[in-house]
Amino acid sequence: MATLFLYSDRALLLTVMLNSKKDYLHQIMVLVFQIIMALLLILFIILITFRIGRPKLQSQLPVNYKELLTDYVKFYQRLDEAGKEAFEKRVEQFLATVKITGINAEVEDLDRILLAAGAVIPVFAISDWQYMNLHEVLVYPGAFNSDFEQHGADRNIAGMVGTGPLQNVMVITKWQLRQGFINTGDNRNTAIHEFVHLVDKMDGTTDGVPEIILERKYAERWKMLMEETIVQMKTNGSDIDLYAATNTAEFFAVVSEYFFEQPELLKLHHPHLFEMLEQIFHTGKLQMAEQ
Ligand SMILES: [Zn+2]
Repeated sequence: MATLFLYSDRALLLTVMLNSKKDYLHQIMVLVFQIIMALLLILFIILITFRIGRPKLQSQLPVNYKELLTDYVKFYQRLDEAGKEAFEKRVEQFLATVKITGINAEVEDLDRILLAAGAVIPVFAISDWQYMNLHEVLVYPGAFNSDFEQHGADRNIAGMVGTGPLQNVMVITKWQLRQGFINTGDNRNTAIHEFVHLVDKMDGTTDGVPEIILERKYAERWKMLMEETIVQMKTNGSDIDLYAATNTAEFFAVVSEYFFEQPELLKLHHPHLFEMLEQIFHTGKLQMAEQ
C-alpha cells in the first residue's frame, strides 16, 4: 500500500509539474496572442489614418480631373483657387451619388467630368444643393428618336429629363454633351439645359419658375419677364435661341445656357434677364462675369 501511495504521490507531483508547465505554455500563448492582436490593432489604426490622410478625391474622379476641368470647362477656369477647389468637391459629390450608364456608348472620363460640371454649374452658388430627383444618367452615342413627351424640336432629342417610367433618369447624347463644352460661343450647352430642367422640376412643376431657389417676391416678376420676352422673340426674333419661345420651362433652360456660357453678353443684350438669373442662381457674389 505504501509503495502504491508513494507512486500516487509521484504521479501527483508529476501531474502538478506537468500542469504548471501547461499553465506556463498557456500564459505564453496568451501573451503571443495579445501581442499579435496589438500589432493588428496598430496596423489597422495606421491603415485608417493613412486612408483618411490621403486626398479624398480618389473614388469616381479620374486622375486627371483638374486637367480636364481646366481644358474644357470655362466656368471652372474663371473661378479663383478656392472656387476651383469647391467646384472639384461638388463634382466629386455628384459622381459619387449619380450613376452614369452608357447605352451603346462608352462613357469616358471626359464625359463623366463634363456631365458633373453641367450638374454643378447651375447650382454652384447654392450651398447644400442635391439633385434629389436624379438617380441615373443614360449616355447615348448620338441623337435618339424615341417619342418623348413634350419634346418635339430637334435639339431636345439631344437630351431629356425622364418622366413616367424614366422618372429620376436623365438621357443625354455623348456628342451633344461634349459639344456643349467645346463650343463656348453658341450659348448652347445640353447638360446645363437638362440640369436646369431638374432644378425647375424640384418644386413639383417644370414651369420655368424654380420656386425652390427663387425667392417668392421675385417669382411673379420672373414669370412676367419670361412671358414678355417670349412675345418679343416671336415678333422680333432674338439672339436667344428661338426654341426658348416654346414655353416658359424651355425659356428658363435656354436662357440659363446663355447665362452660364456668355454672361457678359447676356448682361449687355438682356440686362433684366441677366439680373433675374443672378437672383435665381445666387451668382451675384461669384466672379463669373469677367472674361
Ligand atoms: Zn428642354
